[in-house]
Amino acid sequence: MRAVRLHGPCNLRLDDIPEPERPGPGEVMIGVRAVGICGSDLHTYRNARIGDTAVPFPLIPGHEFSGIVDDAGELPTDANGKPLLPGTRVAVDPAQPCGKCEMCLRGHPNLCTQLHFCGLYPDNGALCERIRVPASTCFPLPDGLDAAAGAMLEPLGVALHSVNLARLHKGDSVSVHGGGPIGLLILQAARLAGAGPLFVSEPLSWRRELAERFGAVTLDPAAGDVPRAIAGKTGGRGVDVAFEAGWAGPLAQEAAETVRHGGTVMLVGIPEDDGFTLKHSTARRKGLTLLFVRRMKHTYPEAIRLVERGLVDVASLITHRFPLERAPEAFALNDGYLDRVVKVIIDLRSRPS
Ligand SMILES: [Zn+2]
Ligand SMILES: [Zn+2]
Repeated sequence: MRAVRLHGPCNLRLDDIPEPERPGPGEVMIGVRAVGICGSDLHTYRNARIGDTAVPFPLIPGHEFSGIVDDAGELPTDANGKPLLPGTRVAVDPAQPCGKCEMCLRGHPNLCTQLHFCGLYPDNGALCERIRVPASTCFPLPDGLDAAAGAMLEPLGVALHSVNLARLHKGDSVSVHGGGPIGLLILQAARLAGAGPLFVSEPLSWRRELAERFGAVTLDPAAGDVPRAIAGKTGGRGVDVAFEAGWAGPLAQEAAETVRHGGTVMLVGIPEDDGFTLKHSTARRKGLTLLFVRRMKHTYPEAIRLVERGLVDVASLITHRFPLERAPEAFALNDGYLDRVVKVIIDLRSRPS
């Protein structure tokens, strides 16, 4: 089958590789239809590492995906506990927690110590024609959600988990630092939770335009000091909760300076160099709470309902669609922030052009 594999930094190639083995008990074969490119994929693409983990090559990236069940082993049961039949359209949760470790038993499968995750070494991802996964990670898609929307449920889940962890109250003021796909989804989820006013700090003009459509007051960090500007719009108080949703680095400090005394900073982004700086005095004097967000848990059903009911707009974030064979070009475009890119979807149904 055809698969897109990373062979080294910025070296992505379309390869012909052996078909996956047939699904065993409780497993299904997914004919992949749509795969989203994530900021974490760009880290792996550019640096051949994610956090402190070097990525051995070749690796098939891709963890935001949906497809159709092509084949099934014995007794495949979907994520809702129902039989999963061939022909079903599904979104696939890339996380495969063990279900047995202490963190899983405590209800935190996102912190599983034995986790397998599609697209994270040693597990290959979904940028290929077929992938074998546990049926229990598959969520059937309602008719109203197309394949690309199905792929968007993974980043939406991260955003929902971030907002859930922040325990937002109605009327809380919120800032989002970094208006990429995750930041724009956090913005929508925070608005749904009743938060407001909402501020988004983002250097790229077209992403600020989207944020404004979703109800945010936007700030361009190049145009002036973001914390001071937001202080000016909140009576000098700052916001209740600040979400760092870029690539951390200086944004963690920006978030800490923007939040009010006693407020909460949610650290969602993954920094390029595996570090971020935060002035201790800023965080200490304000008595801040810092919360790290690790992926998500139990968010797919909520994400499906929100998109189905039109309460969260994922379609407007999708700016580009490429066929599988043009994935290298898609990654280069996304990595260079070219052509007003927000979210790139690799669409395995579309024809090369
Ligand atoms: Zn992701
Ligand atoms: Zn576990």
